[in-house]
Amino acid sequence: MKIKQKNGKVALVTGGSSGIGLAICKRLVAEGYEAYEFSRRDVEIFEGIKHVSCDISDENAVIQGVNYIIEQSGKIDLLINNAGYGISGAVEFTALDEAKKLFDVNFFGTVAVTKAVLAHMRNVNSGRIINISSVAARLTIPYQAFYSACKSAINSLTLALRNELKRFNISACALMPGDVRTGFTDDRRKNEDGDGVYGGSISRAVAVMEKDERGGMSPEKLAKKVCKLAKKNKLKPFYACGAEYGLYLFFEKLLPQSFSNFVVGKIYS
Ligand code: NAP
Repeated sequence: MKIKQKNGKVALVTGGSSGIGLAICKRLVAEGYEAYEFSRRDVEIFEGIKHVSCDISDENAVIQGVNYIIEQSGKIDLLINNAGYGISGAVEFTALDEAKKLFDVNFFGTVAVTKAVLAHMRNVNSGRIINISSVAARLTIPYQAFYSACKSAINSLTLALRNELKRFNISACALMPGDVRTGFTDDRRKNEDGDGVYGGSISRAVAVMEKDERGGMSPEKLAKKVCKLAKKNKLKPFYACGAEYGLYLFFEKLLPQSFSNFVVGKIYS
């Protein structure tokens, strides 16, 4: 990708060390942004991306990381809340601690970064926030209840932020990807406890998910969509990426929920 002239804008991407976040960072750098990324690993990632070692579930570390960017670059124009991971397992057999940990990163981590960045965006009366949600927010996947629930929570957060922040000229949206080929699949914390009791459907559902994800779209395609949203004049609350997922979400809105949930159940259990 040819690197354009600097555009004077500063972006922060969470989870920019791999997968979708890394592809977004590379694209932002190529489009002329100064791009910072938060992730836990302590290595330089890619030429041009400014890595800040930060666990987003640690609020103090997040505040320090955001203050560091403000000291270095003076502002944050664009925030992409992307960091996250998945867990799978039956609701009955998932330890509450595991479910809470997931929310601490995927949801409350997103909240912590957003809160830390907002004062700076509000001071300059401008900013844009793009939250990476999932189609699983709207099509709840069995044996991924907690993952789906935290992505639904991100969608609710996005709607609230839009109304709270419009007076400050700060816009927000959520992008709901479908299957994307990244390290997310191997990183998923799988729990197949109770598989026998549930007739083998936990392991079958996870196998279907993994196959779909490994055959999913490239993170670069998603990064292209994110960069388009970063520049769009007016944002809608929610976006899909790819015609197929746009269609799923269109039908999910149109059809009775019992029907779409039945279809998801047929695919995954
Ligand atoms: P990935 O390749 O596993 O990347 C996840 C990123 O999140 C890594 O950079 C990881 O960095 C970072 N991260 C995880 N926990 C963190 C923490 N506590 N603090 C800071 N950074 C943390 O997965 P991906 O597919 O790119 O996922 C990115 C986002 O897309 C996630 O929110 C995921 O839910 C969403 N999504 C993915 C898919 C898919 O099919 N892949 C579909 C829909 C939505 P470190 O490990 O270095 O901290």
